[in-house]
Amino acid sequence: MGKFLLLGLDGATFEMLDPMLQTGRLPVLARLLGEGVRGPLASTVPPVTCPAWPTMYTGRNPGVHGFTSFRILNPGSLTSHTATLGDVPCPRIWTALNAAGVRTGMFNIPATYPAEPVDGFMVSGIPAPSGAPGAVQPAGLREEFARAFPEYDCNGSVEVSLFARRSKRKWIIETLRRNLLLRKDALDWMLQREPVDFLWVVLEAVDRLSHAAYVFLAPGSDLYDTPTGRKVRDWAMELLETQDEVIGWIIKQMGPDAPVMVVSDHGFAWTPKEFDLCGWLVANGFLVPPPGVSLRKRMRLAIREAVFRSAAGRRLWRGLAGLWRRKTGSLAQPYRLVPIDWQHSKTWPATPGEYGIRINSTRLRPEGIVSPSDYDQVADALVEGLGALKDPQSGEPVFETVARREKVYNGELADRAPDILIVPARHVVHRVGPTWKAQANPHPLRTASELHVLSNHDSTGIFAAVGGPFAGGTVDSARILDIMPTVLHAMGHAIPPELEGQVLTGAFTEDYLSSHPVRRVEGAGGEVAPPGDGEAYSAEEEEEITRRLKGLGYM
Ligand SMILES: [Zn+2]
Repeated sequence: MGKFLLLGLDGATFEMLDPMLQTGRLPVLARLLGEGVRGPLASTVPPVTCPAWPTMYTGRNPGVHGFTSFRILNPGSLTSHTATLGDVPCPRIWTALNAAGVRTGMFNIPATYPAEPVDGFMVSGIPAPSGAPGAVQPAGLREEFARAFPEYDCNGSVEVSLFARRSKRKWIIETLRRNLLLRKDALDWMLQREPVDFLWVVLEAVDRLSHAAYVFLAPGSDLYDTPTGRKVRDWAMELLETQDEVIGWIIKQMGPDAPVMVVSDHGFAWTPKEFDLCGWLVANGFLVPPPGVSLRKRMRLAIREAVFRSAAGRRLWRGLAGLWRRKTGSLAQPYRLVPIDWQHSKTWPATPGEYGIRINSTRLRPEGIVSPSDYDQVADALVEGLGALKDPQSGEPVFETVARREKVYNGELADRAPDILIVPARHVVHRVGPTWKAQANPHPLRTASELHVLSNHDSTGIFAAVGGPFAGGTVDSARILDIMPTVLHAMGHAIPPELEGQVLTGAFTEDYLSSHPVRRVEGAGGEVAPPGDGEAYSAEEEEEITRRLKGLGYM
């Protein structure tokens, strides 16, 4: 069996890339996206990095792999912990390939910390504590890796809200370029020591750039045809030229005959409208702000909010929080974003990255107020209420998906997700909080107010494949769940029967399909390795991860 390259471009869209490809300045990507088969790739619900990448590498829905979000609510309490790869109970694409005798290199894939022992290598992606040895396998290379790359950061995150400041824009893009080159050096170092037949690399530059600036990159947006839009696109093009060189170099490492598949985990859209979720919940009797928040407490909360809005304030807060944790040894992070009246609130909003609403149910914790017999009525009222909302200007639904989690996920771990999952329509972003000063809002859909919320995730990513068994043309129904079976089939291997997706037969040549019937074989998923060391996060690491995710708007 020959080699295979799976290239993940986090958050990439054809909408943004196609006009850039037409300039001729990104020849490598133009070939990958133009000379084989391509089409939209439907993301997960919600369309977020996590659960999307774990859904791709397990071929199972989040109710089975359990990585419903970067942070997972601890059962029976209002605390949460950062999810780890050790939380994922089912086989992954690399266990299937290792079982088939294929050496695998997994580089910078989100939600793969701590790295687990593989035949080949693994370097974890976001989230992972910076400088943590647990991010590298084989374990025998950890010390040498740390010495070679003291600056290496699995998260590669920048505070995207800083893009609102003109003086920071060039700096953010320059930081992304530096991260990209550091990734290349680290991958080079790994490949020299551990050559592999299957390589899966994720590059995050497009996602971070899009979080910061998609509104300037999306043709047709209000800010596209402005002097700032043109300037931002010049910088973005320079960043993508660097990325194009890096991709060209990766392809060279795998050899000219290796088929290449390109995927993104979700897309982006410019989002001129925002939906005030707390305001809607209050107006409809689902959420009650805390009674009589004293003037003193209001002032304290207001100061805290102001502190979090400034970078210096956040640094100070982090220092104090770290001191507090060292003093108390407290590991669990409070899950609650802000205070609510827990005795009278039937629901509360999940964190922004979870895209959902939690029901204050006695099943979740004894102090809850919604009994099992009332649960269905509350859940149905939320689904009907939000599902019926229309944008008064366009008449279009405000939400693309509003569903009880059991309609979207199945599996034993589905109850980690919010009770109700919501995905706003394209061009709408949902805003969460603050709950403590939430007021009934009869017009919760409004014009987006801050630059960094004008660019948000969207449900449509990209799929493309070129070379080897792949045909030309388009496929129009690819889903994240289909990627693992499609890769296994493209490499000539059997597919574990429990995988939920389908082989994208439309992506293959007739010749290949007739000589390679799709085989589903029990046990083809291989064995899940016992968890490596460096498993749990320390209090400081939890703190750091939370800050990183906040910087990207997930928390
Ligand atoms: Zn992503």
